[in-house]
Amino acid sequence: MENSMQKKCFLCSSSIDDGICFLKGILCSECEKKIVASSGEEERYTDYMEKIKQVWRGSLSQDSEVRPGIR
Ligand SMILES: [Zn+2]
Repeated sequence: MENSMQKKCFLCSSSIDDGICFLKGILCSECEKKIVASSGEEERYTDYMEKIKQVWRGSLSQDSEVRPGIR
């Protein structure tokens, strides 16, 4: 079965054709820049990481039946 769903940035949910594989999700270049730029500031970086974890957990429970890309 092929999944032709459009990829979405898991941080800002904007549709993207080609994103950066980050952990198990796709990250748009804008959010990648934000994270990279914030990596020098621990507070903001931690904030992003918390968001990522929340989204990630949500998508993990949804994807547990499908598990795309996992072999
Ligand atoms: Zn994004």
